[in-house]
Amino acid sequence: MTSSESLFARAKQLIPGGVNSPVRAFRSVGGSPFFVRRAEGAHLITAEGRTLIDFVCTWGPAIHGHNHPRIRAAIAAALDNGTSFGTPNPYEVEMAELIVRFVPSIQKVRMCNSGTEATMSAIRLARGFTGRDKIIKFAGCYHGHSDSLLIKAGSGALTHGHPDSAGIPASFARETIVLPYNDCLALDAAFAANPGQIAGVIVEPYCGNVGFIMPEAGYLAHLRTVTAQHGALLIFDEVMTGFRLHKAGVQGLLADEAAAAALEPSTTGLQPSHSVVPDLTCLGKIIGGGLPVGAFGGRADVMDLLAPLGPVYQAGTLSGNPLAMAAGIAALRLLEEQNPYQRLDALGRQLREAVLSAATAKGLPVQVPQRGSMFSIFFTETPVRDYTSALTGDAALFRRFFHTCLEQGVYLAPSAYEAGFLSTAHAGADLDRACEVMAGAIKAL
Ligand SMILES: *Cc1c(COP(=O)(O)O)cnc(C)c1O
Repeated sequence: MTSSESLFARAKQLIPGGVNSPVRAFRSVGGSPFFVRRAEGAHLITAEGRTLIDFVCTWGPAIHGHNHPRIRAAIAAALDNGTSFGTPNPYEVEMAELIVRFVPSIQKVRMCNSGTEATMSAIRLARGFTGRDKIIKFAGCYHGHSDSLLIKAGSGALTHGHPDSAGIPASFARETIVLPYNDCLALDAAFAANPGQIAGVIVEPYCGNVGFIMPEAGYLAHLRTVTAQHGALLIFDEVMTGFRLHKAGVQGLLADEAAAAALEPSTTGLQPSHSVVPDLTCLGKIIGGGLPVGAFGGRADVMDLLAPLGPVYQAGTLSGNPLAMAAGIAALRLLEEQNPYQRLDALGRQLREAVLSAATAKGLPVQVPQRGSMFSIFFTETPVRDYTSALTGDAALFRRFFHTCLEQGVYLAPSAYEAGFLSTAHAGADLDRACEVMAGAIKAL
């Protein structure tokens, strides 16, 4: 059998860096990447035949674990009819109906092929709708690799130490205003300084691309209030969080929290919760069931500006592809049947507790933000609330932690600045084992 080492040597001859997406190259943690020949449940099986417990979950999509029989069967059934038609097909309609049913703020939706296409198109639509050019994004939020959005973008770009890519014209970058996340005053100041010029604000409502960072109470509601006051659109990039934290994404979580707070108004002593309804939402990852899919949707009056109804052009040869739609429909139906979010949160807490108690025993400062099936491990004593505080995480310690875990069969994202993911397939012995390994790795630091 061909080893990872020889595959990587061949790949490097022909593929830049040997990979088709930079973070896979392990540059941030050192060493060379393993190749995977099969994935099943919570496991990756490498070219060498090693079995790893996988906390990357193909960077988010695999919420049901890898190679789920229902998703595989749905793809196989669709395959019988052919791979692509270039015409409308029934799967697209079913997918649109599912998304609109799951996510109340989405009245109309357009399918595309990746998260990058979804955010790029949502930005164009916001500009077309408002007739304005500038957009606001937040440092550390990654919205794919289109020119307007690849600025202070976290994820692979951050990992590789050049947060801005070469090849982006300065004139494009000038239309993107980058602000710190979780900072209401910075937002107010940016709107005051650019009156009538800001088309929209795009945000990962829970950040997952500079590690995992949660919004402070009232922050997302503030984004909603200020964008509405200034006639700018609020775009939630839920490519990662959509269907992962709640079947309606972070906006669904907020709506549930607001409803719970309304039932018990004064007893909690917590800040009041507000539901936040974005104008547009970007989706990807989970809605493809492991195949390449993206989508964006929202207010019907905005979406109806898209061609062929309106002047904002957007298109795709393979958009709404029947195999991808079938896989995504199966993934969403499974979520609807199983409603696994409480179970996933229990798994996430178990992992968080294991890491925290090992770190406490060792006297090692660590931050483990976690919600549901998303988590991060930052080796820092600074609470992580934005890009700057995320960078206080000790990358050298993370590197050692990562490699010790990998040697013991636990695969975490190969960067200190990526979120970890759990799937329903992690429950039981695999998670127990992984917690043991992570605790041991912390002890050995
Ligand atoms: C992954 C991701 C994207 C980009 O999606 P691709 O399918 O990789 O193009 C955009 N936004 C967020 C929040 C993401 O996590």
